[in-house]
Amino acid sequence: MTTTIIGFPRIGENRELKHATEKYWKQEINQAELLATADELKQKNWQKQADANLSFISVGDFSFFDNVLDAATAFNIIPERYGELGLNDLDEYFAIARGFQDDNHSVKALPMKKWYNTNYHYIVPEINDQTDIKFVNDRLLKDIALASKDHDNIKASIVGPFTILKLSRYVGSKNATDFVDAIVTAYADLFKRLNQTAIKWLQIDEPSLVFDLSADDKQLFNQIYTKLLGTAHEFNVNLQTYFGDIRDIYEDVIKLPFDGIGLDFIEGKQSLALINRFGFPDDKTLFAGAVNGKNIWRNEYTKTVELLKNIPAKNIVISTSCSLLHVPYNVENETDLDPDLKKHLAFAYQKLAELNDLDQILNHQNDDLLAANESLFSNVNHPHNPAVIDRINNLSADDYTRLPERSERESIQKAEFKLPDLPTTTIGSFPQTKDVRKNRSLYKHHEISKDQYDQFNKDKIKRIIEWQEEAGFDVLVHGEYERNDMVEYFGENLDGFAFTKKAWVQSYGTRAVKPPIIWGDVSRKNPITVAASSYAQSLTDKPVKGMLTGPVTIFNWSFPREDIPAKESVTQIALAIQDEVLDLEKHGIKIIQIDEAALREKLPLRQSDWYSEYLDWAIPAFKLVHSKVQPTTQIHTHMCYSEFNDIIKAIDNMDADVISFEASRSDLSIIDKLKANNFETEVGPGVYDIHSPRVPSQSEIYNVISDILDKLHESKVWINPDCGLKTRGEKESFASLKNFIAAVQQKRGEL
Ligand code: GLN
Ligand code: ZN
Repeated sequence: MTTTIIGFPRIGENRELKHATEKYWKQEINQAELLATADELKQKNWQKQADANLSFISVGDFSFFDNVLDAATAFNIIPERYGELGLNDLDEYFAIARGFQDDNHSVKALPMKKWYNTNYHYIVPEINDQTDIKFVNDRLLKDIALASKDHDNIKASIVGPFTILKLSRYVGSKNATDFVDAIVTAYADLFKRLNQTAIKWLQIDEPSLVFDLSADDKQLFNQIYTKLLGTAHEFNVNLQTYFGDIRDIYEDVIKLPFDGIGLDFIEGKQSLALINRFGFPDDKTLFAGAVNGKNIWRNEYTKTVELLKNIPAKNIVISTSCSLLHVPYNVENETDLDPDLKKHLAFAYQKLAELNDLDQILNHQNDDLLAANESLFSNVNHPHNPAVIDRINNLSADDYTRLPERSERESIQKAEFKLPDLPTTTIGSFPQTKDVRKNRSLYKHHEISKDQYDQFNKDKIKRIIEWQEEAGFDVLVHGEYERNDMVEYFGENLDGFAFTKKAWVQSYGTRAVKPPIIWGDVSRKNPITVAASSYAQSLTDKPVKGMLTGPVTIFNWSFPREDIPAKESVTQIALAIQDEVLDLEKHGIKIIQIDEAALREKLPLRQSDWYSEYLDWAIPAFKLVHSKVQPTTQIHTHMCYSEFNDIIKAIDNMDADVISFEASRSDLSIIDKLKANNFETEVGPGVYDIHSPRVPSQSEIYNVISDILDKLHESKVWINPDCGLKTRGEKESFASLKNFIAAVQQKRGEL
């Protein structure tokens, strides 16, 4: 057998690419310097793969921002407004990714979307009727030339035409099928150029094949590849898929003249069954995704070897289940981790070694490797907490049922709070200004005492409570000055979580996140938000909203453990947050918001799995958090995307009293859906976009409110911004919120 990976992280072990790119944007280094840093990073990645004895090294997975944007720009899918800026290639590329502004121009960035079920985001290509798809950019060829200096076993990769056409947004009257000929010609031109290189394989990434495919999708795919594979090529072509199995198109795929097919055996539940049922052609190579590209745990060799031995394919390359882009670089950088945990971790570098180990084991070159791995796995000590397990075992349906019913609670709460029509509130955080971050950093570096740190935050709370009262808000927040991150902050106060120092994973462009690791049973160590919330409440007669992150979001933005089902981990987190909810209630907090910003994120890619694999435990976990509160306690939740059109009933079933969500950028289209579904939860559709520094005028907000009230009854509507204000400046936020309150008052005057 031979080995390879689908792709490697590129931000750099110490986020070198991030730092260099941001310097370039600030004009602190020039383009040549940025390109040099990039080349160094690429060469280092390739050498790592060569040193790990991989049979093929991956070229083409590097990107300055995003691989979908790389492919789109390589094939001239570039809206005119960017071309008109007259920039060089790289600057034009960044303009598409980030927007561009100078004295004479102002263009927005193309939108970004989540990459399948990951926390990575890609740039959505935009195609209009004039888009002239053709091969125009030799970035990949340059990378191949660079790699060829030191390596001769190159596998180049590019995002495929089917996926590009499926992910693009069509702004004219044409659609994907109108561009088949053009895109095939464009990729065929790339083939011709690649014929002049010495690459062994071209990996064409087609992850869109793992979705539920319609007859039209299948036809589109077949059309593209029947034509494209007719182009003479002197390298092998591997159709690479990941994030699931390709059950809807497997039979077609094996009939097409691909030289290799890459299947995911980790998330692809039916991959093995498909091969068993329909066979795998002897003249093709199977790239078997057997080492998990998303998790951070060591591979269990016995299981993987068993899997690989059982696959009835003649030629197998052992590979990763997806690009290693989704994992951090190197476990060795984590010098502070509990050694008991650390020995079970595998980041990108370690996964390269695992591929090599597996290869050796399968070739019977090294039985000690297997024995050592077996002993590691026979001795996993996740910190257990019997009290948590006990609590879970004793849960009954009552624990998930809030009484009385929501409609009854609604009248009880209206009487309790006596809020005006269209009650106003914000989503929680106020701007994290420089002084707030400095205070945190001083405390972290032991330069100020805990008392000093707390006192600073208390002063901030006092100031923002006064500001909100004066501005005229009805339900106040404490501002979230004590947290830099809505998951890390809670994780740090829960048992069972571990934190890394350098385990960054790219989220988009130069942005990376450092997800905590769920390692043991989770429970609440101590009260988390009670002090801040009750202090804020002590300053005012208006209700102050408690502010928590929900269990599903904490789970989705962490690296989960895999020895227990997701449902179990989420339930543990839910119980910990339940403790906090009840504690807040006990301390006089009558409105509690439990953010589920990331609930939509891990919705399975196939609709048939939505409930059984996810919502059936995710929604109950949320209910478990709040079901024990008094009828007079009002539960809010918040979601960042309004893209839950398709799961509206499930959202209503969370049984919150109020939900706020982002709506201003999506034309309020969700409101029709809410109406059509008789949505019961009171709603606060965001009335202005906080993701931009722009200050909306009173009349603009007034109009949005009017649009909302055209469709929803005023007794059901709350008025709030889109999301938290933490990334904004104070000046623009205060100005926006003043216009916001004025708009609400204007509207109230008319009711
Ligand atoms: N309460 C959080 C805040 O205001 C919610 C953030 C989010 O939805 N991402 O910052
Ligand atoms: Zn949000």
